[in-house]
Amino acid sequence: MNTPLVTRFAPSPNGDLHLGHALSAITGFDLARRHGGRFILRIEDIDMQRTREVHVANILEDLRWLGLAWEEPVLRQSTRFDAYWAAAANLRERGLLYPCFATRTEIENAVAISPTGVDPDGAPLYPGLCKGVPEEKIEQRMAAGEPACLRLDMDRALRAASAHLCGAPLTFHEWNGDAASSPQVVPADPARWGDAIIVRKDTPSSYHLAVVVDDAMQGITHVVRGKDLYEATHLQRLLQVLLDLPEPETYYHHHLMLDPAGRKLSKSSRGTSLRDLRADGASPSDIRRLVGL
Ligand code: GLU
Repeated sequence: MNTPLVTRFAPSPNGDLHLGHALSAITGFDLARRHGGRFILRIEDIDMQRTREVHVANILEDLRWLGLAWEEPVLRQSTRFDAYWAAAANLRERGLLYPCFATRTEIENAVAISPTGVDPDGAPLYPGLCKGVPEEKIEQRMAAGEPACLRLDMDRALRAASAHLCGAPLTFHEWNGDAASSPQVVPADPARWGDAIIVRKDTPSSYHLAVVVDDAMQGITHVVRGKDLYEATHLQRLLQVLLDLPEPETYYHHHLMLDPAGRKLSKSSRGTSLRDLRADGASPSDIRRLVGL
């Protein structure tokens, strides 16, 4: 390997870490350590409504307790809005993003009349309510202070990416976590997201935009995260191409940790947070065992 391997763990500080987070964090940390690489912790706190400082402090404490160490200073995405905005402005200038004023209710009403299907997160595919609105009308509504998000014009974006790739397919490299196997080339299918929100109404970025900008800026070579973000990778690869950002060498979407009822763990699942387990007497090596490492 010529370039050093760089992994990251990128939690959103809106709750306590659970076993699924432990699996991501330890896997990334071990991978970096095995290859003499770097392990980065990034706090994904663009959602000001849900971010709590107590969760940031708890995340750091839980990870230290697990025995992980990372590079300082820790990047907080809330300090990076200028970079996200610049990336969005670039896409907007090229006609790849357009403002959308539609409310959730307007979208729900529209899809109740003509169903559009759902995106990989289960949200209705955007029915195009604000698509093709003349620029002067947009400016009037903006000047009146009407909140707007910015959506990706998926058809245009796919055409732009295809031109950028000179017609070669959009792909990424997916690894299965087995040291004996090599990553496989997987075709990316971002169209399943429809005209996805790239800049939210309430915050000048979105998860997808912030992740691709920061993964590139931090030189992440190996993205390790749960399978629940597998579909996100398809859209993020498209954004990387559109923004001319380097492609991470490998993605590893590990299995999800489930509760006894077979449901994916969430920040509200009781009894599976690292803090609860620690209070019940679990040790860091118990956590490794519980996540199958
Ligand atoms: N911040 C995201 C989360 O906590 C993870 C982002 C990523 O790994 O790409 O779910």
